[in-house]
Amino acid sequence: MFAVLKQDVSQEQLDHLSMWLRSRGVEPHVFHGVYQTVVGLVGDTSNIDIDLLRGLDIIDSVTRISEPFKSANRKFHPDDTVVKLGDRAIGGGNFEIIAGPCSVESEQQIVDIAKAVKASGAGLLRGGAFKPRTSPYDFQGLRAEGLEFLLEAKQVTGMPIVTEIMSASHLELFEDVDVIQVGARNMQNFELLKELGHCNKAILLKRGLANTMKELLMSAEYIMSGGNENIILCERGIRTYETYTRNTLDLSAVPMLHELTHLPVVVDPSHATGLSRLVLPMAMAAAACGADGLMIEVHNDPKHALCDGAQSLTPEQFDEVARKVAKVREVL
Ligand code: PEP
Ligand code: MN
Repeated sequence: MFAVLKQDVSQEQLDHLSMWLRSRGVEPHVFHGVYQTVVGLVGDTSNIDIDLLRGLDIIDSVTRISEPFKSANRKFHPDDTVVKLGDRAIGGGNFEIIAGPCSVESEQQIVDIAKAVKASGAGLLRGGAFKPRTSPYDFQGLRAEGLEFLLEAKQVTGMPIVTEIMSASHLELFEDVDVIQVGARNMQNFELLKELGHCNKAILLKRGLANTMKELLMSAEYIMSGGNENIILCERGIRTYETYTRNTLDLSAVPMLHELTHLPVVVDPSHATGLSRLVLPMAMAAAACGADGLMIEVHNDPKHALCDGAQSLTPEQFDEVARKVAKVREVL
């Protein structure tokens, strides 16, 4: 349920309303928009008499939200959320490319790639230290050492870093990480999501391999209900019956999610297609349909990458993608 307030409501009246809502077991989330102030009611609203609320002289209108996601709902928060990352931002017209290798393999590798992608215009550096691999016999990532190398690359280039967490027990290792990624396989690891709700870091939440947009938004809701509203959603392809591509990139998720939620949406064409030659056209398409950013895998030697070489771009190929995406955005 959300209430739109009349134009000239004072802070004191708003505080009174908030106190009354809390006494009824409902948490008010106040959003001061450009044109109106909206109060979202989070929790069990069965104790709220909607007619009584509508009758208060400070209330313009009250609407029930039928969707199960509340804090993530655009009806609650009509303006786009802007996630700020150092001097960078994603959402609300701010577009960034997150680029880097699938996995951090050595200090030299991550520093070299960081310098190259930064020179081509990437705003954030990615690199996996804890890797979710389908086989336990595949490279599992350099783990804590990988995070150290990533932090070294951050130090050298000044780029904010994005890296995946696999377990809440690793959280203290992520203290200097700017954006914590929740990978597709952990999108519904609810205990992990609850923990991330209590940390004050930006979260990049990837859509699960076989999850609906509603399920993605409910996972965002888990994080938001703990108090952390700095979430970037990521469409990275879903599993269909198609086999020529690794996944099927659901670009319709971008405008659909923008309609449903105020959270920014980025697209990962690397995991979505699994093929480096498809990254350029899909990256341009993602920019054209309104994505707030891209996540792209770049490796200095894709043939010998320890993970996801087939979908990784060389720094030169990435440079072309960054230039063409910028052109698409100019046209828009
Ligand atoms: C990744 O970004 O390296 C990754 C494992 O992605 P996903 O969770 O989308 O498969
Ligand atoms: Mn990967």
